[in-house]
Amino acid sequence: MKRIIVAGGGHGGIAAAALLAEKGFEVTVYERHKREDMGYDWTDIFNHNCLKAAGVPMPDDDKYEIKGDVVFYGPSQKTEFVQRSPKNQPEIKMERKDIYNHLIAHAEEKGVKFEYECSILSALLAGDRVVGINTDRGAFYADMVIDACGCDSPVRKTLPDCCGIQKGTNDFEKFYIYRAFFNRKEKDTVENAFKLTLFFNNIRGISWVTTEDEYTDVLVGRFTPFTKKEANETIAAMREKNPAIGKKILRGGSFAQIPVRQNLSILVSDGYAAVGDSAFMAIPLIGSGIANAIYAGAILADVIANDETETYSAETLWDYQKRYFKEHGTGCAMLACFKNFLVKTEPESLDNIFDYGIDKLRGSLSRTKKIKDNATLKDVLEILLHARSLLTDKAAGKELGEAAKKMAKLLSITSQMPKEYSRNEVIKWAQKYNRIFDV
Ligand SMILES: Cc1cc2nc3c(=O)[nH]c(=O)nc-3n(C[C@H](O)[C@H](O)[C@H](O)COP(=O)(O)OP(=O)(O)OC[C@H]3O[C@@H](n4cnc5c(N)ncnc54)[C@H](O)[C@@H]3O)c2cc1C
Repeated sequence: MKRIIVAGGGHGGIAAAALLAEKGFEVTVYERHKREDMGYDWTDIFNHNCLKAAGVPMPDDDKYEIKGDVVFYGPSQKTEFVQRSPKNQPEIKMERKDIYNHLIAHAEEKGVKFEYECSILSALLAGDRVVGINTDRGAFYADMVIDACGCDSPVRKTLPDCCGIQKGTNDFEKFYIYRAFFNRKEKDTVENAFKLTLFFNNIRGISWVTTEDEYTDVLVGRFTPFTKKEANETIAAMREKNPAIGKKILRGGSFAQIPVRQNLSILVSDGYAAVGDSAFMAIPLIGSGIANAIYAGAILADVIANDETETYSAETLWDYQKRYFKEHGTGCAMLACFKNFLVKTEPESLDNIFDYGIDKLRGSLSRTKKIKDNATLKDVLEILLHARSLLTDKAAGKELGEAAKKMAKLLSITSQMPKEYSRNEVIKWAQKYNRIFDV
């Protein structure tokens, strides 16, 4: 029986583990936390279609609710941009602990073993090949290691340089987040329950406040690390505009990080594949990574199960890379180009986009009927180029044009991804892909 190690209890790794155990693989997940300490003490929104893709049943109805509308604001908060949730909205809101309860129960039912309180230190190598993991409980060997250890994975960081997999992140590629649930002060009806502001107080990043019946969910996110004092100052300023935010922290009140960048240019090596945050798969603008992690886990399990050579080499795992990019990665990488545009944009320019660009864009698009439900990446690119011509802030228009050009180049580069794995060819291709995102 072939043995698979899932390094870290990330969502995509657990989803892959369940599918592989079902196919007869011997699968063990090694996780540093105790079972009850896994996951954050807060809610998450994710697209539930990923569960179906990974053969995971829907959670019970009382465990989730359908996500509502999101209202976006620019730094001045003068103009609203409402993202309406359609009735058949596939995005659900669920407690993170319940997501883990659901995924782990499913995986255990399929035969996956979990080893908790086991800290992974590094990849275990035989030459260039990953053959297991080194942990604080000793070395564990396997035919294949799935890296689901998150953004700072010690497995990814200790891979041999020659496999070409990037080890860390660059500036502006991680989001530093403070999140807390405060008591709800005012009980008056709040017009917009979920408000998300870009560059609140003119600081590069996002902040949101969601007003629920019993609490307010407050998040402050920035591209550079910040202190609790700074978080509190920002929340005090948010409170002035959102009097419902009380002062008593009910839950959370801690810092975390999310990768907000294009996913890894190379996802596989001999005996190794990365899923979820360890491959930087979270959606670059908003940091949602659960669905992509689970989609990736499902694709990877399928590729592993269909590897007739049973070598789990980079060559045979390459199909996972090709499929992930085609189905999810390229779209996210497009958003990473747009995020890099935002990172450079001045707050006034962003206000100009909100105050003039969005309405004009909406008006002109509805006239030309360019927005389609099944818009392709090329359609999105066309819309951005169109948006650039509408902006009155010429500097922002120029930057947006540059971002659109990078996206066009990206589409061309991803379409040239090597069909077969050859280390030299793949590394050459990865260098081209990575260069697009130089800020
Ligand atoms: C504040 C905040 C809000 C978010 N909101 C959303 C949201 O609403 N929707 C959404 O889709 N996503 C959200 N995300 C992002 C989401 O958490 C991740 O993108 C998603 O969990 C995918 O990451 P992962 O499961 O691959 O890795 P992770 O969630 O990072 O899990 C990695 C696992 O590996 C374990 N591990 C790490 N290192 C070791 C080690 N050395 N040894 C053993 N085990 C180890 C960790 O303990 C953890 O269990 C949010 C993130 C943050 C921080």
